[in-house]
Amino acid sequence: MNEPSEHVEKHERRDFLKLLVGGATAAVALATRPETVDAADSPKPLEELPDGESMILRMQGELRRALAKPVEKRRWVMVIDLRKCVGCSACTIGCVAENKLPPGVVYRPVMEEEVGEYPNVGRRFLPRLCNQCDNPPCVPVCPVKATYKRPDGIVEINYEQCIGCRYCLPACPYGARTADFGEFYTSGTPRAEPYEKLPSHEYGREWPREQDKSPVGNARKCHFCIHRLDAGMLPACVTTCIGYATYFGDANDPESLVSELIARPNAMRLKEELGTKPRVYYLV
Ligand code: SF4
Ligand code: SF4
Repeated sequence: MNEPSEHVEKHERRDFLKLLVGGATAAVALATRPETVDAADSPKPLEELPDGESMILRMQGELRRALAKPVEKRRWVMVIDLRKCVGCSACTIGCVAENKLPPGVVYRPVMEEEVGEYPNVGRRFLPRLCNQCDNPPCVPVCPVKATYKRPDGIVEINYEQCIGCRYCLPACPYGARTADFGEFYTSGTPRAEPYEKLPSHEYGREWPREQDKSPVGNARKCHFCIHRLDAGMLPACVTTCIGYATYFGDANDPESLVSELIARPNAMRLKEELGTKPRVYYLV
């Protein structure tokens, strides 16, 4: 049986997530898997996980194993250990640099909340991104079928097909999509810097940044760094996380680290009650 203090702590963690995510977007709440609602759900201690570097090497090996399978046999998922996130936003910046994101477009913000009462206060953090939902509400609203689910589960946006109507933005219950309005960090100054015009390599293609050319004008969101996966590399946020708090892999591989993690009783997903079937899990 749990000690009262342990029980309170677990509820604090969930309340924190509800408050944090719901408060920031007024649209998201945390759902718990039915079997995790009651008592015997104490998280595994951090010491049971291997050190960060060996986990990265293990995930790289598992990635290669998954890439050897036909695409439809892979089931990519991401797991974020909130107990290890220190809120440094290295993942956010790593993603911005990898995907050459302009102002106003962020695929992986880290939200934060102050908890406790003076003098016992602290901060907690929640990295957010597209959940690559198995039942994605953003897909059926697209009038030109520019967004769709790939056989490996990643929800893709075809930039050339996207007409920029932005119907998909409010359809996403996680606020995971943003519009690219063609801004530069140096907008309003005499000239744009060359680094701002570097092409992104999203979806395995080169996208030079020029007005009136995709992805300017399109909806944008996280895609688990498909272009890196295809080259045998983990998503940029996984390798830049200084706390080794982000895991990625093939949930169809029973031996993979992510399969092990999502089976833990403290693995939770956001707003699961909507039936969206998110592929991003949080360890709380
Ligand atoms: S999180 Fe939002 S954008 Fe991503 S697949 Fe789900 S509904 Fe679509
Ligand atoms: S880089 Fe890692 S530790 Fe830092 S905010 Fe992102 S997930 Fe958390």
